[in-house]
Amino acid sequence: MSPRILALLALPLVGCVGTPTPLAPSLRGTVGVPHHGVQTDAVELPVAGLGFERYRKKGRNHWGTPRLVSAVSRAAADVYRQFPDGQPLVIGDFSARHGGKIPGHNSHRTGRDVDLLYYVTTPRGVPRRSPGFVSLDSDGLGKLNDDGDFIQLDVPRNWALVKSLLENPEIGVQFLFASHKVETLLIDYALARQEPMDLVYRAQTVLLEPRDSAPHDDHFHLRVACAPEEGVTGCTGGGPYWQWLPQAPSTPTLDPEVLAAIAAEDPPVFEPLAEASLAPGGA
Ligand SMILES: [Zn+2]
Repeated sequence: MSPRILALLALPLVGCVGTPTPLAPSLRGTVGVPHHGVQTDAVELPVAGLGFERYRKKGRNHWGTPRLVSAVSRAAADVYRQFPDGQPLVIGDFSARHGGKIPGHNSHRTGRDVDLLYYVTTPRGVPRRSPGFVSLDSDGLGKLNDDGDFIQLDVPRNWALVKSLLENPEIGVQFLFASHKVETLLIDYALARQEPMDLVYRAQTVLLEPRDSAPHDDHFHLRVACAPEEGVTGCTGGGPYWQWLPQAPSTPTLDPEVLAAIAAEDPPVFEPLAEASLAPGGA
């Protein structure tokens, strides 16, 4: 059979370009862009842990890159330790175990995205578990029903969450989608607390209301950037790579004279292998 026919027969095994297969072993972890990608080696967020619980107990889409799952768990625990009288962070969808399209989301395909419901209180400021995806207005209030029941954005806890995520060296926050109204409340609070200006600047940069989807007035959508080492295993895109994120190690540049000396050297000569070592049973 000709090599050309063999290549054509092998095409269905390869699948689409950019998908990890035994024929593309270099692609692993988070692969592709958040709107068109897959993942391998994902870990699943437990149903509950210190300071958090899942919105869907039995959902199948709680798989993310190990560092994202770790960072979210750690942030929830940080907030819990600072505000031990609070209610847990309620965590929505990550991605499917092997990535790809999941219901209700365009992104969330590569283990780099997760939805985090806002911490809320009663209008009197008593912490309460998030009842779900409830739109919050510019005063932080969200209407629960027609009986006059409201919830309110818990600004200190949500700011503590943002801060923990931004300060975690395990991840680089690429986006933390939230409505302009929520962002304003959080940034005003951070400024009033005299938080470090570089932290406030980072928060203002990543807290964005997306133009092409819901305004995110009922939850955060966290996306982490590709780590430099993930870039060589298939991770790409998803948004800007902010200047404060770790830069990929640069290749050392050689002095032109050194390069010229190397180029002038004679090519190495290899001794031919002894015939005995090529023979069947040879050493
Ligand atoms: Zn989302």
